[in-house]
Amino acid sequence: VTPFLYTSAPARVVFGSGTIAKIGDEADLLGMDRILVLSTPGQYARAEAVAGALGHRAIGIYAEAAQHTPVTVTARALETVASLRVGGLVAVGGGSTTGLSKAIAYRTDLPQLIVPTTYAGSEATAILGQTEDGRKTTLSDRRVLPEAILYDVDLTLDLPAPISGTSGLNAMAHAVEALYAPDGNPVVSLLATSGLAAMARALPRIATAPDDREARSDALYGAWLCGVCLGAATMGLHHKLCHVIGGRFELSHAGTHAVILPHVMQFNAAAAPEAAQHVAAALDTTSAAIGLFNLTEKVAAPRSLHELGMPESGISDVVALTMASPYRNPRTFSADDVYRIVQSAWRGEAG
Ligand code: NAD
Repeated sequence: VTPFLYTSAPARVVFGSGTIAKIGDEADLLGMDRILVLSTPGQYARAEAVAGALGHRAIGIYAEAAQHTPVTVTARALETVASLRVGGLVAVGGGSTTGLSKAIAYRTDLPQLIVPTTYAGSEATAILGQTEDGRKTTLSDRRVLPEAILYDVDLTLDLPAPISGTSGLNAMAHAVEALYAPDGNPVVSLLATSGLAAMARALPRIATAPDDREARSDALYGAWLCGVCLGAATMGLHHKLCHVIGGRFELSHAGTHAVILPHVMQFNAAAAPEAAQHVAAALDTTSAAIGLFNLTEKVAAPRSLHELGMPESGISDVVALTMASPYRNPRTFSADDVYRIVQSAWRGEAG
């Protein structure tokens, strides 16, 4: 075994079906009261139900979470936190809602209990991505890491099939990049390969039967494993491109990941043969990149940046922003390489 360093993130995880009934007990374990329940506007009804389950512990609902955690939204939420003298945060939703919770916790150190309803995996990391003036920056801080996660498979049954597939590919991107990360290690590789296999098994089933509980359970478990990988290993070119593109053009975060992943896998495969082999094996195929292209098609995820709404004229901007502060990557890349990758992804054609 090659010598390694592994730091696990100390969060409590409750996983199962019907676990939302335990939310009051979990909040008590964290000593939380005067809880603010967070959600996106579309998930208000669910936030209300969770506030109901929290009973006297809940003080209000803030349902304005938005993608890419705009600092303007955080500033407004902080006014509510101060005026209600909030003592804890419960986030119910996808990565956008978790992002708002983390942004508040970063500034207040309030405890967080996250109830994920997509496969983004943000709940398992101490990373906060925020957007200001079209630029997304990320930071890592112990205050950002949620204290507890409550996974309830039942809350994912209504996640529409197209969002499920796209969100699942977002999760898989964390595991893929962890497998070739400069600080990767055997523990992370175990989590990554199990996460990828669970996702690859589950997503095609969810695409045809969104209420398949077994597949939903696999996908949510896979999302957690992939999220732990994201929190434990340094991400490469794929995540850099997604941050740049997502922040610059306000495209769907998960959609951008789904489009870019096979292209970066194709670019990196020869420089990271062991990782590529693990990915291919998890996908039960022989080529990691082709396996990912095929999975994208099977789950009807977006195939091009063009269909997500990015202008072709923006490719040069993406190249410039990527090259201005590149992430470490198993294969060194030039501006021309990045241009070719983004152009192929924009067109939705394998490079
Ligand atoms: P999202 O949270 O924006 O959710 C997508 C849409 O699905 C929203 O409209 C939401 O209301 C809806 N939705 C969520 N759960 C649903 C359900 N069960 N049924 C029906 N609709 C549902 O999208 P996302 O892809 O989960 O998260 C993206 C955000 O997460 C981005 O801002 C990204 O930067 C962040 N993220 C951060 C990290 C990290 O570690 N910091 C990791 C991954 C993602």
